Amino acid sequence: MKYKAIRGMEDILPKDIAIWQWLEKTARMELESYGYTEIRTPILEDTSVFTRSIGDTTDIVTKEMYTFKDKKSRSLTMRPEGTAPIVRSYVEHALSQVTPQLKLYYMGPMFRSERPQKGRLRQFHQIGAEVIGSNSYFADAEIIMQVSGMLKLFGLTDFIIKLNSLGCKKDKEAFAGKLKKYLKEKESILCKDCKTRIKKNVLRVLDCKNETCVQVARSAPGTSESLCTPCKDHFDKLKNTLTKTKVKFKETGNLVRGLDYYTGTVFEITHPSLGGQDAIGAGGRYDSLVKDFGGPETGAVGYALGMERIILGLKKEPKGTLPVAYVATLGDEAKIRGIQIAEKIRKEMPNMIVFTDTKDASLKSQMRNADKNNAKLVVILGEDELKISKATIRDMATKKQISVGLESVPEEIKKIVGA
Ligand SMILES: [Zn+2]
Ligand SMILES: [Zn+2]
Repeated sequence: MKYKAIRGMEDILPKDIAIWQWLEKTARMELESYGYTEIRTPILEDTSVFTRSIGDTTDIVTKEMYTFKDKKSRSLTMRPEGTAPIVRSYVEHALSQVTPQLKLYYMGPMFRSERPQKGRLRQFHQIGAEVIGSNSYFADAEIIMQVSGMLKLFGLTDFIIKLNSLGCKKDKEAFAGKLKKYLKEKESILCKDCKTRIKKNVLRVLDCKNETCVQVARSAPGTSESLCTPCKDHFDKLKNTLTKTKVKFKETGNLVRGLDYYTGTVFEITHPSLGGQDAIGAGGRYDSLVKDFGGPETGAVGYALGMERIILGLKKEPKGTLPVAYVATLGDEAKIRGIQIAEKIRKEMPNMIVFTDTKDASLKSQMRNADKNNAKLVVILGEDELKISKATIRDMATKKQISVGLESVPEEIKKIVGA
C-alpha cells in the first residue's frame, strides 16, 4: 500500500519552502510596522459560524465547505476563510474592551472542496488582516495602501486593485432589486443555479463562473446608483484619499464579492498573468458582522491574500521570486571582504537571503551553487577586483554584469531588486 496526499492538498517540500517562509516573514514585518498583531484561531469551528456570516446560499457554504459531524453529532466545519472565526473570537473574548480599534493579522491554511486546478487547491493558504472598530474611510484607505505596499515588497508589480462600494444594507437591497429586474429579462439563458439565485440571493449571480452568466453579469447595472448619500460620500472620500496617496485602483461597478457579510467598500486584487483564476486577494467592509455575532455595533474592514496565487504571480514577474544573493569569492583576502559585504547586505536588506562560499570552491562551482539556490544576483570578488577595490555584480536573469566600488555594493543591489 502506497499512500498519497489527499487530492487538492499538497506537501510543501523543503525545495519549495524558501519562498513561503520569505513571504510570511515579509508579511509579518510589514503588517507589524502598521501596528497589526497576530491572532491564531482553530481550524475547526461550529458550522453556523460560517453559514450565518458568509451566507447560506453562497457557493462556499452550499458547495465548498468541509463539514462533518463529530462523535457527539455536533456539526463542525474546517474554516473556508479567516474573517468569521476572528469575529467569533473578537466577540467571545470581548476584545473591543482591550482597545477601541484592533488591528489583527493571520496566516494559515483554509479549506474548500472545489475541483482542484492550477491555483486552486482544497487546502490553500492565506495571509489576511482585519481592522475592527472603525467606520471611517481612513481605515479602508490605510488597509488598501498597506496591502498594495506589501504586494510590492513581495516583488509583485503587475497587479490591479478593483474597487467598488456595495453600500449599507439598505443600498444593497435597492441594488438587489435593480439587479433582479435586469436578470429577469435574461433568466432563460442563465444556468440552473443562477435561476435559483435570482429568487434566493440575487447578488450571487454576479459571482457565477458559468460563461454565459459571466457575460450577462458584465452588462449588469453597477452598485453606484443605489448608494445613499453617506455611503456615496464614504466611497468618494476613499477614492480621493487613495488617489492623493498614489495608490492605484480601478473602479469596478459590478464587483460584489462572493460573501454575504460585505457592506460598503469591497475590493479584489487580480494579477492578469494568471488567466482564469486571476484573483490573488480580496477584501472589504463588514460593518454588521460583529453585531450579528452578538458583539457591539462596530465597523470593520479586512482582506485576505491567497499565497499559492501570489507565488504563481511571482513566477510571471520579471522581478519576482526570492531575493537571493550569492557572494562568490576567490582567494583568502577576497573571502574576508566577501563575508563583510554579505553582512552589510543582510543588515541593510533584512529580507534578502545571502549565501557565501564556505567550501573554497572554484568560481564555476560557486556559480552553479548560486544557480541551485535560485540567486537573483551574484557578487563576484576575485583578486583582480580586490586590487582596484571593486566587485562585479551579475544579474542572473539578464546575465548583465556591472563593476561597482566595494562600498556601494548594497546600494547597487537595492537598485537591481527594486527594494
Ligand atoms: Zn447607504
Ligand atoms: Zn450561473
